[in-house]
Amino acid sequence: MADDKRTIHLVSLGCPKNRVDSEVMLGVAMERGYLNVDDPEDADVIVVNTCGFIDPAKKESVDTILEMADFRTEGRCNKLVVAGCLSQRHPDEMARELPEVDHFLGSSDMLKLGSVLGGDAERVLVGKPADWVIAAENPRTVSSRPGSAYLKIAEGCNRKCSFCVIPSLRGKQRSRSIDDVVREAERLVASGVKELNLISQDTISFGRDTKQGALAQLVERVAEVPGVHWVRLFYLYPEKLDDALVDLLADHPRVLPYVDMPLQHAADGMLRRMRRGHGGQRLYDLVERLRGRVKDLTFRTAFIVGHPGETDAEFEELLEFVSWARFDRVGVFRYSDEDGSHAAELEGKVDEDTAEVRYHQLMEMARQIAAENNAELVDRELDVLVEGESDEHELVLMGRHRGQAPSIDGQVYLSGTEYLDRQPVPGDMVKVRVTQSSDYDVAGEVIDWLDKAPAARPVANVRLRVLPSDRRDVT
Ligand code: SF4
Repeated sequence: MADDKRTIHLVSLGCPKNRVDSEVMLGVAMERGYLNVDDPEDADVIVVNTCGFIDPAKKESVDTILEMADFRTEGRCNKLVVAGCLSQRHPDEMARELPEVDHFLGSSDMLKLGSVLGGDAERVLVGKPADWVIAAENPRTVSSRPGSAYLKIAEGCNRKCSFCVIPSLRGKQRSRSIDDVVREAERLVASGVKELNLISQDTISFGRDTKQGALAQLVERVAEVPGVHWVRLFYLYPEKLDDALVDLLADHPRVLPYVDMPLQHAADGMLRRMRRGHGGQRLYDLVERLRGRVKDLTFRTAFIVGHPGETDAEFEELLEFVSWARFDRVGVFRYSDEDGSHAAELEGKVDEDTAEVRYHQLMEMARQIAAENNAELVDRELDVLVEGESDEHELVLMGRHRGQAPSIDGQVYLSGTEYLDRQPVPGDMVKVRVTQSSDYDVAGEVIDWLDKAPAARPVANVRLRVLPSDRRDVT
């Protein structure tokens, strides 16, 4: 490592939206000649981009800051910076309680890292949540595996779900312009990205605040960017989806038949208490319509158990709904009181043991259904994006098929590559015949090439330390 080169280590906590913010901060640093290092031991500057929306995530953030502070007091590090949702939520308290930290940035202050690195910045630089939305001209160093990247299309949320404080951390909905998102998509694809994962807090509301075109128009424009292979949608709020969007999911060759739509519950009374703005029947209608229209749909969703007021009967209704809908991917979360949330003031708190029992009961039902759905892939031929060596099994190549989102949905373990003209590399796309399945993963033989990766993307070796929080987040 060049001793004269200044170095930076970045830890990104929480959700993919926070990860994109981390990548912007890395872009800001690398524009100033900083080198990204994997080991905090070797870093002049350490940045912790925090998550602050629920207790476990807050604890993880504070533990990580204290861990990094050791390098500040004992190591090479001469600047410890804390950014993101936790410092947005508690700037003064954290500045008081954490003297080891040199600078605090909020959830909209990523570009201010420049003045921090320039050495002329205040200690607390936490602005208002609505001060910034990422733009195509912002520097950004993509950290996901070659061939894939997140594309943040908007920031903030205007909804009032009872259990959620994100609107106070991220501000009101602020959509980017369609042209600006397409400009960034073109830049990412030009750097070798084939899969674009569209994210925001409330993706279905894209463009409503700017009146310049709805989500379907954006998705179609992004899917028409030359060289893009897969466009995947995340964080869809359960509203009546417009026909144009459903048609894209069903018919467009590059828009994946993949829906990430956290539903949170299914019982009318509970959905009312959660202030979700609809009843359970809408969810039955949505699932029926999407399954009926979109062939090979992969449906990912999330539920909260133990929300104040949840009765045994309401939980039974949720189980009934899940066993009927047969979702492919389900995240289950135990409710937790969040200061500032509407639910924290509600009566009828559910005791932890009951929430725990419900959590395991629903997780087990979801796991069985996922395993059965996954088994139906055996003997099918799937398009797979190669990601590289598996984290679990050394020397085993792995990738993801169209129904598997990055980091959260399982993998495809590849064999039979010895018959190819070369060993597949990250970013390649291959055709695979599935030979085995488990709950979320499958294994299969590579039977042909689909698209070979262009020369390795220059920034492929950049790695953020992303702590996989099992609590992705809400919507
Ligand atoms: S749960 Fe999602 S949609 Fe609801 S307020 Fe939070 S971020 Fe917005």
